[in-house]
Amino acid sequence: MLRVDDLRSCYGRIEALHGVSLEVKAGEIVTLVGGNGAGKTTLLRAISGVQPVTGGAIRFKGEVIDRIDAHRRVGLGIAQVPEGRQVFAPLTVEDNLRLGAWSRKDDGIAADLDGVYASFPVLAEKRALQAGGLSGGQQQMLAIGRALMAKPELILLDEPSMGLAPILVEQIFEAILALKARGITVLLVEQNAFSALSIADRGYVLETGTITLSGEGRALLDDPKVRGAYLGL
Ligand code: ATP
Repeated sequence: MLRVDDLRSCYGRIEALHGVSLEVKAGEIVTLVGGNGAGKTTLLRAISGVQPVTGGAIRFKGEVIDRIDAHRRVGLGIAQVPEGRQVFAPLTVEDNLRLGAWSRKDDGIAADLDGVYASFPVLAEKRALQAGGLSGGQQQMLAIGRALMAKPELILLDEPSMGLAPILVEQIFEAILALKARGITVLLVEQNAFSALSIADRGYVLETGTITLSGEGRALLDDPKVRGAYLGL
């Protein structure tokens, strides 16, 4: 579904991605782990089209998309949930969700809204309240729900469990598994490497802009290097 080949991206003269290659197959959860500043967010932003690339190629369903605007990539089926749960705080929960469907012209929006409420009942309870009043975990669910309203085939999740209490972290990982069950392909960036690799089909380790390791999620959990650097074992 997604293939990234030898991707390079810079901030000014500083190159943050030094030729990254990875693949996400349809229906997979693929986890990207790496330390602070490794380039994980830069990579997700390059795929969604908000970060320019200076070399290499990004293919979505076989089509090279590097030169396609970010908003058109949403229309192609790629949705990003940015780091830090960027919901529109003054707007209601429902308006936030409806904003996720801005690029759609089909008549399935109401049904998909019901689908998001069925997946996240707490959002249904709070649909008329301001998003800024939700707890951190609820805002993360709203951010995921908003991405779902774009009817994506591929969802890019940037640190969805960051800053959440353990019980909520568990709920977020369950929600990610539920995305997979709905047939949505997931590329997940996480600091919580143990949980993220546990639910992943495959994973990649990104270090200072370079992929240094890849494999099945379970195999990476057993890898001595991953255990030492990312699992604190
Ligand atoms: P974190 O987990 O801390 O978010 P990350 O793996 O997502 O880290 P990036 O945010 O992609 O890493 O950053 C990769 C590199 O690019 C880092 O060296 C970072 O300092 C640099 N960088 C990121 N954003 C900018 C920016 N807006 N301007 C200049 N350099 C940046």
